[in-house]
Amino acid sequence: MSATTTPAAVVTEPTAWLRGTAGAQLRRAARLGLDPHDAAGPMIVAPLVGRMSIPGSREDRTCDRCGRYCGPAELFHPLAYRAAVALVLIGGLCTEHAAAEGVRA
Ligand SMILES: [Zn+2]
Repeated sequence: MSATTTPAAVVTEPTAWLRGTAGAQLRRAARLGLDPHDAAGPMIVAPLVGRMSIPGSREDRTCDRCGRYCGPAELFHPLAYRAAVALVLIGGLCTEHAAAEGVRA
C-alpha cells in the first residue's frame, strides 16, 4: 500500500449512490444463485462496480463512483461496505467521493 492510499474504511452511512450500487450487486448475487441474506451461508466479497482490479493497477486507483484515476501523488480511499449480512463490497474512491461517504483521511 503506497503512502497515498488511506487505510481501508468501513462505510456505515452510505449515500444514495452507494445504496443503489449495493442494490445492483445484491440483484447480481441473486441472479448468480447466491443468497447474500443467509447468515449461515458463505460470505460473498465482491467489487462495488465492475470486476475486481489487480492490486497496483491503474484500475486499482480509479474512483468507483466518478471513474477518475487518482495518480500516485494524490490520496486514494479504499473502502468496504457490508451490503447484506453475507455480502461485503469493496472498492475505492477519490477524496471528493470518499468524503461524501463519510470516509476521511
Ligand atoms: Zn470520484
